[in-house]
Amino acid sequence: MNILLINAGSSSLKYQLFDMTDESVLAKGICERIGMEGSILKHSPTNGESVKYSEPMPNHRAAIELVFKALTVEECGVINNMDEIDAVGHRVLHGADKFSESVLINSDVEKVIEEAIPLGPLHNPANLMGIRACKEIMPNTPQVAVFDTAFHQSIPEKAFLYALPYEYYEKYKIRRYGFHGSSHRFVSARAAELLSRTGDPEFKVITCHLGNGSSFAAVKGGVCIDTSMGLTPLEGIPMGTRSGSVDPAVLEFIMSHERIDIAEMTEILNKKSGVLGVSGISSDFRDLENAYEDGNIMATLALDIFNYSGTKMIGAYAAAMGGLDAIVFTAGIGENDPFVREQMCSTLGFLGVKIDPEKNTVRGKETDLSAPGATVRTLLIPTNEELVIARDTKDIVTKLTLAESAR
Ligand code: ADP
Repeated sequence: MNILLINAGSSSLKYQLFDMTDESVLAKGICERIGMEGSILKHSPTNGESVKYSEPMPNHRAAIELVFKALTVEECGVINNMDEIDAVGHRVLHGADKFSESVLINSDVEKVIEEAIPLGPLHNPANLMGIRACKEIMPNTPQVAVFDTAFHQSIPEKAFLYALPYEYYEKYKIRRYGFHGSSHRFVSARAAELLSRTGDPEFKVITCHLGNGSSFAAVKGGVCIDTSMGLTPLEGIPMGTRSGSVDPAVLEFIMSHERIDIAEMTEILNKKSGVLGVSGISSDFRDLENAYEDGNIMATLALDIFNYSGTKMIGAYAAAMGGLDAIVFTAGIGENDPFVREQMCSTLGFLGVKIDPEKNTVRGKETDLSAPGATVRTLLIPTNEELVIARDTKDIVTKLTLAESAR
């Protein structure tokens, strides 16, 4: 079974084609500058040379048509025709409170994704464009939506409700949703597997997804009970360019003193804050650590704030679960940054967390980083959100096929 995975953004579209007989990737690529001058598709077949197509892509439909061309042409193709694609899996940001798992897309599902646009104004419209373009081009191929929010739908009310007048929840569904759900689900399940605790309702793990956006999740017995991002991906610890949680009164203060409106304030919180805002250097941890090594005080401060916030989050979630068996580090920073892992865990010895400095030098490879005597395992597990989407799509389509053949 071949599954095409689509991750549609407003002006970009990433894709991967999986052969699910062995979960291998046949090809992947990205369309950039959709709807703009100079649009380009970069296509990389796993067993061949990468190619670039500089062709106009006025919309997502044109982008997907070009993806099909790249997947099937002689020069760089990996399949003969589109009929060899058995299903399409779409990454969708926001499923509101309607979806706790992945679903086969039909008009009702599209409607919910559309209704959730106010909650995910940057992503949901683009995700929908990707879905609708695929539907037009391949109307008979099943399509599945995999939501970033779904894994966190198990969070109890006391953890997802903000202490605001309840009517805002009733009227607008203002609550914590959480993001990076496929990643937290993948690495928490893998941690349970590695530690032979799959299915154990008492297995308590904190997953730290640290990338351009960073989020934490408390997962007990495979069920998410809390997560650090909120209504939007702005809440939680400071990130590359996002502020994370701040006193809400700060907004009014800055807006009145700087004479800026809410749109500008929101832009500052999303794009000019985080470790970039504090350091004034970069949002990239490689740049920050180079600056730190050169003795740059502001880079040091930005890293300290990030690491300290992470430590507090781990402490809070250990308390929320009433104990801790494992911490998982994943995503760009979590997988590649020994300094962050070491610093975030440096005061957690009292919980039984102890990292082996030698093992902690590893980057991007599944590793148990724990030192002898640690009672909490610290694991590095590379995330694979794409594989989660491909597996969910395969499961749903297989069930659909079985149900159809039973009729
Ligand atoms: P996204 O949230 O966009 O998926 P990633 O998970 O790919 O992001 O993380 C990207 C971030 O990972 C970069 O901004 C950078 O800070 C960090 N990163 C990548 N490689 C390294 C490295 N070798 N050392 C430290 N940080 C790294």
